[in-house]
Amino acid sequence: MLKGKRAIITGSNSGIGLGVAEELARAGADVVLNSFTDRAEDHALAADLAARHGVTARYIAADMSKGADCRALIEQAGGCDILVNNAGIQFVAPVEDFPTEKWDQIIAINLTSAFHTTAAALPAMRARGWGRIVNIASAHGLTASPFKSAYIAAKHAVVGLSKTVALETAGQGITCNAICPGYVLTPLVEAQIPDQMKVHGMDRETVIREVMLLRQPSRQFATVEQIGGTTVYLCSPAADQVTGTTISVDGGWTAL
Ligand code: NAD
Repeated sequence: MLKGKRAIITGSNSGIGLGVAEELARAGADVVLNSFTDRAEDHALAADLAARHGVTARYIAADMSKGADCRALIEQAGGCDILVNNAGIQFVAPVEDFPTEKWDQIIAINLTSAFHTTAAALPAMRARGWGRIVNIASAHGLTASPFKSAYIAAKHAVVGLSKTVALETAGQGITCNAICPGYVLTPLVEAQIPDQMKVHGMDRETVIREVMLLRQPSRQFATVEQIGGTTVYLCSPAADQVTGTTISVDGGWTAL
């Protein structure tokens, strides 16, 4: 379905970004993976995707906390038809103790990078009359939790940015939407489970159900494949008129 389309996925050497790249490649897209590291194993991820799906895949190192790097990523890739803004980090502290450098870093990586990549990618999308911008926001783009002020401010702003870009590109063959995942079982989340088991004195299944997924009514994690599949849907003809909106993949979290 996406044969001949080039997708750039920021922050895609693990977790959701890699899962999205996998599903886009499975759908036939050429993919560009990214993170800030430049290790042999990063490039091996791209080679593996290319070999398994018969697509072209590259890994380009670029630091999404730096505006110039964000724009250089788009340029080095030769532009893109599909842009997935996924790079993100988290830090947890009460607002009055929140370190300023952490605030700045979260806003830069989780929000400002999407401004730079979008601005850099749009002219070529307009010239071709087709483009898909998918921003990986969060249930925390629609609702809040304590101690995550920077993350939640950034994710709400990503939803606002998505709506604005949708309006500026409406009727031009370009759509811009935000996917809002609830808890997704990525290596990042998996790594928290042993600590949570210890802190709460619970077994794995209980700590997942009663602590980690307390706000997710399905009491099941979303998967990276589901976020990837939602991205592929947004790139399909069925979604040609889906723009400026959010799609929650959160087991009912935001219905509460
Ligand atoms: P992850 O840590 O596995 O992935 C984050 C990715 O961003 C990694 O590839 C990392 O290398 C990259 N990254 C970090 N800093 C970067 C930088 N400066 N430049 C370039 N790349 C950088 O975590 P994840 O859970 O897969 O998160 C991916 C996205 O999904 C994030 O935006 C996150 O906020 C969002 N999200 C995750 C969940 C969840 O439960 N896992 C839920 C909702 C939203």
